[in-house]
Amino acid sequence: MKCKVCPNEEMEFKKMDVHFWKEGKLVMVENVMGYECPSCGERVFDEETTANILKTLKTKRAKRFIKTPVYSL
Ligand SMILES: [Zn+2]
Repeated sequence: MKCKVCPNEEMEFKKMDVHFWKEGKLVMVENVMGYECPSCGERVFDEETTANILKTLKTKRAKRFIKTPVYSL
C-alpha cells in the first residue's frame, strides 16, 4: 500500500501502539497491526482493526496504566 502523503513510499505492515484521546483521557492500545509510512509516519488501519479497537475500548479494562510526561513549546 502506498502512502497518501508521500506517493513514492511503500507503507510497512507492522505491529504498533496507537494512542488517542477518549473522553478527555489519553489512552493507548498496544499490539495493533496497521500500515505505517517509514517516511512521514502516516498510519492506516483496516476497518476490522478499527472496529476491534473501538470494541476493546468499550468492553475491556485497561491492562495497565502509565505516567505520561507532557511538554510545552
Ligand atoms: Zn508518508
